[in-house]
Amino acid sequence: MPVVAGVDTAVFTVPTDAPEADGTLSWDSTTLVLATVRSEDVTGLGYTYAPAATASIIADLLADVVTGLPALDVPRMNEAMHRAVRNAGLPGVAAQAIAAVDIALWDMKARMLGLPLVHLLGAARADVPVYGSGGFTTYDDDQQERQLRGWVETDGIPRVKIKIGESWGSCEERDRLRVAKARAVIGDATALYVDANGGYGAKQAVRVSRALTDEGVTWFEEPVSSDHLSTLAAIRDQVTLDVAAGEYGYTLPYFEHMLASRAVDCLQADITRCGGITVWLRVAALAQAHGLEISGHCAPHAHAHAAAAVPNLRHLEWFHDHVRIERLLFDGALAPDGGAVVPGADGAPGIGLTLNAERSQPYRVG
Ligand SMILES: [Mg+2]
Repeated sequence: MPVVAGVDTAVFTVPTDAPEADGTLSWDSTTLVLATVRSEDVTGLGYTYAPAATASIIADLLADVVTGLPALDVPRMNEAMHRAVRNAGLPGVAAQAIAAVDIALWDMKARMLGLPLVHLLGAARADVPVYGSGGFTTYDDDQQERQLRGWVETDGIPRVKIKIGESWGSCEERDRLRVAKARAVIGDATALYVDANGGYGAKQAVRVSRALTDEGVTWFEEPVSSDHLSTLAAIRDQVTLDVAAGEYGYTLPYFEHMLASRAVDCLQADITRCGGITVWLRVAALAQAHGLEISGHCAPHAHAHAAAAVPNLRHLEWFHDHVRIERLLFDGALAPDGGAVVPGADGAPGIGLTLNAERSQPYRVG
């Protein structure tokens, strides 16, 4: 039985192509922490979007834990990593560090078996629907229109999402105008989603939801902070749009609390935050047990194969920043033609990505 020979890390910081902000945060660069695992002559890669310190957690707390363990026993190593970060604190960067290594371990296992990961996991569906996501509050009308047309007209994606809740909900009128302009650009046939990133108050969210409903918006993500489950549940009871949340889930119990609180109509989970593929699949099962679908949050190429293995998948977020970064740093990126990706279609083993040394080098910071 082959064992894990070692774990390496690399950190890349990529500037955004324009200033970006949502309801509650602004940024001008994005950092990707890469984990690479080795066993005999096979390597696997995984990643998370997290502070550079995540690489130190991998090196200091996780690498020795998985090194020497049987390379095919990914859930065993995932459990060992979870136990190893007890005193560091699992929610947050430790869970992200585990996620990067877990994804790399699944990638390596599939490569050892010569299979696309979706075939190792077992497909539950033929393809993975995606939705275009960006629409930052920093965009002017022309930028927003260009981005929306790119998804709808160039890629053929029939669902898109923009950010609202600008400056902690203090620009409600501009939010409404931007939603109306988005609808005018995409027409009636394209699904329109919004994400307030927790920027609104409870009553404000209900008030705004009426304008959103008038524009045919069907998805209201984090109308208020995901920390307030009873408030989310109250909003969910008062609006006809689907309420979605879950992107800040780092542990399995977090998702169970959210589901048990009846806080969401569709559960979101980020495979690069919640402990990797091993845990994300369990989160999907939790959602299924509650009669709900799951949507993959950001990092589309880290999710795609696992998403295809889940029967109750709604869709995967085709997030502007991460699509751009994954196309830049890796070879093997997927195409969302017609609004879905088909992981494994090219027969490439694992999650289908290889680091492009030449293109990634200028962005390497650690
Ligand atoms: Mg969001």
